[in-house]
Amino acid sequence: MQTKLYMIVPCYNEEEVLPVTAGLFLEELTELALKGKISDDSRILFVDDGSHDSTWEIITRLSGQNPHFIGIRQSRNRGHQNALLAGLMEVKEKADITISIDCDGQDDIRAMEDMVDAYHDGCDIVYGVRSSRSTDKLLKKMSAQFFYRLLNHLGAEVVYNHADYRLVSAKVLKEFAGFREVNLYLRGMFPLVGFKSTSVYYERYERMAGKSHYPLSKMLGLAFDGITSLSVRPIQMIAGLGVCVSIISFIGVIWAIVSEFCGRTITGWASTVCMVCFMGGVQLICLGVLGEYIGKIYLEVKARPRYIISERTYEEEKETKKGESVL
Ligand code: UDP
Ligand code: MG
Repeated sequence: MQTKLYMIVPCYNEEEVLPVTAGLFLEELTELALKGKISDDSRILFVDDGSHDSTWEIITRLSGQNPHFIGIRQSRNRGHQNALLAGLMEVKEKADITISIDCDGQDDIRAMEDMVDAYHDGCDIVYGVRSSRSTDKLLKKMSAQFFYRLLNHLGAEVVYNHADYRLVSAKVLKEFAGFREVNLYLRGMFPLVGFKSTSVYYERYERMAGKSHYPLSKMLGLAFDGITSLSVRPIQMIAGLGVCVSIISFIGVIWAIVSEFCGRTITGWASTVCMVCFMGGVQLICLGVLGEYIGKIYLEVKARPRYIISERTYEEEKETKKGESVL
């Protein structure tokens, strides 16, 4: 039985680049099928993340032109991670393997062959890892490096320089479906599933067209989400910080008592102000971090649906399940 691959491609307002990259995805799929590495009934699944431009029209047109293209549409924009999840869950019963990839051509599409080879060699997760960050601006490069180090330091296992270009087998997807959290940070969640994994290195290019949806502010938001979704170390650090501040305060108290006995208490104004400000600042930061976790718990408790699919380019029951004949 041949391996049925689903490429999962999230798209948000991508009318400029989609017509260019769709052809490249199809080329790769056809080549892999010709080489016998995947089955010919493999698919390219576009997930329209509630675009406001003509992205969905392009997807429906493509699916009318070639049966390898299929698409689903989210009822509204939910963000890249939720769009990816929607795609993965949509095909979890049908695919033997999935490869998630952005639709802008930044990730080297040809690296898919190495990923599929690694799967045939027995790996269940294959991480696409950027071999260099030469196309990044200095600020993005430095902030990314800092972020990966920080995350690993905080105890979250993330693969350095891996974003969301990744092969995942049906076995992993089945287990991953049990991860019910609402705060998604997929690149940090898949390592938690386990199974045999490896990395494939590739060159990351400039966007082929259109513009990025991740300005620095959104990137920092995602980074912060990543930390608080994957690690409770910041809360533990607050406890450590509390001990340090207590020790400093204790020294301050001794100093105040000694000053009192030496008759130099009038000069204490500056030190009092410093103490009050310092303590106030530390407490506010700690409250903020705790608040962030409480906010996340609030969202988790509500357990709202993580994605809502409003349209499909195909009838769900007519899509073949894995192992089913296409004849
Ligand atoms: N994307 C999405 N929903 C969003 C924002 C982005 O599905 O709300 C998709 C987008 O179409 C692209 C991928 O996520 O395929 C990565 O986005 P982008 O290329 O803008 O990010 P960058 O590569 O600049 O970090
Ligand atoms: Mg991009």
